[in-house]
Amino acid sequence: MANLVDMTPFEAVTYYFDQACDRLVVRDEIRNLICTPDREVRVEIPVRMDNGDLEVFIGYRIQHNDSRGPYKGGVRYHPEADEEEVRALAALMTWKTALVGIPFGGAKGGVQCDPRKMSSRELQSLTRRFTRSISQIIGVNQDIPAPDVGTNSQTMAWMMSAYAEEHGYSPGVVTGKPLELGGSAGREQATGRGVSLIINEAAKDLGISMDHSKIAIQGFGNVGSWTAQFLSDGGSSVIAVSDVNGGLHNAQGLDLDQLKAHVVRTGSVLDFRDAEAITNDELLEIECDFLVPAALGGAINSRNASKIRARMVVEGANNPVTPAGEAILNDRGVSCLPDLMVNAGGVTVSYFEWVQNIQRFPWDLNRVNGALEEIMVRAYREVQAMVERDNITYRDAAFSIAVGRVAHALELQGLP
Ligand code: NAD
Repeated sequence: MANLVDMTPFEAVTYYFDQACDRLVVRDEIRNLICTPDREVRVEIPVRMDNGDLEVFIGYRIQHNDSRGPYKGGVRYHPEADEEEVRALAALMTWKTALVGIPFGGAKGGVQCDPRKMSSRELQSLTRRFTRSISQIIGVNQDIPAPDVGTNSQTMAWMMSAYAEEHGYSPGVVTGKPLELGGSAGREQATGRGVSLIINEAAKDLGISMDHSKIAIQGFGNVGSWTAQFLSDGGSSVIAVSDVNGGLHNAQGLDLDQLKAHVVRTGSVLDFRDAEAITNDELLEIECDFLVPAALGGAINSRNASKIRARMVVEGANNPVTPAGEAILNDRGVSCLPDLMVNAGGVTVSYFEWVQNIQRFPWDLNRVNGALEEIMVRAYREVQAMVERDNITYRDAAFSIAVGRVAHALELQGLP
């Protein structure tokens, strides 16, 4: 039995992958081929800072698997974005795209930096240099980056522009772009919309009426804030939210419109009126129907899983529940809906954006949202059917479906 507590993020993803391979009886040579990334690139990124100093940042692009289509995955700017974390996130992208059935593989990028401490000029300089360093291995049919933690549509605009300087106009080389540069309607909200669609489906199965549901959300960035908005619009009470600075609680439900205006004004959820201040630890322990960790990895782990009082944990972030944390939740009868299913709305609308770029034909918001809903609900229903049939966890079912698809694609192509 693996030592669950000490697992690194990549070991954790590999652990679930191995379990799926055992369940599916995947041949060893296929298993070995899929498990390790196809390519790992580490680059030095020298940037002239505003104070005149030359700083050298380290960046990664890790391409995990392209059996089902071009590599696809975000770029993270964060002080802890190291090789190990990026590798884990790249592998997760392979399983995510396979689970929702879009024709992409998996990749991830990361630069170890703190974007909150950098000026716009410094960030542009970093982004252009990073893009030039990896420009030979990305491309419309090769590898398509997107935003993640610490990056946004502006970052993608700079990446697209830097790539165009060497390769010519190719809007489909990145997704999550501004609308004016070929971005898709609905992309910014897509991950949060997807999370709320999954919660709606799960609520039907649990017999919870959304009108009476109570939600707690850790992280109030892109994923957390849009998830809160859609659930609140649908009648749920969002009773607690937090960001890196701390959290808020109001048992009657927070006023999301007012809260978003407060965040725009002050840069944080802190000091919002009509709510009591709580810590991030307290947020995770609040009694609620759905707890959505939507910040960083490892939030729910062996130290705090026994204190979770949600009926269900819904992984808005990537890897927010460690394997040890999930084992404790499972023992206590708290189900966990896994990241590769829950937050796949972002990459799904990224796929729509890529299709629109290739066809030079934009879709309207209704078409984007309709197609997103179809894919998210189908993925949930496929996973749910396997959970019921085989009496396994949602994560084991999601990994089994995804790993089976990738292994089959590889078999069809033939091995050397
Ligand atoms: P973001 O940078 O927009 O927001 C992150 C939020 O988490 C911020 O509110 C930040 O203050 C908060 N936070 C950071 N550290 C924290 C801590 N220690 N405790 C509590 N809160 C903390 O990032 P995002 O795009 O919303 O991504 C969040 C997660 O969702 C990441 O795991 C990311 O990989 C995953 N994800 C994002 C997308 C997407 O489309 N943006 C898609 C799929 C998965």
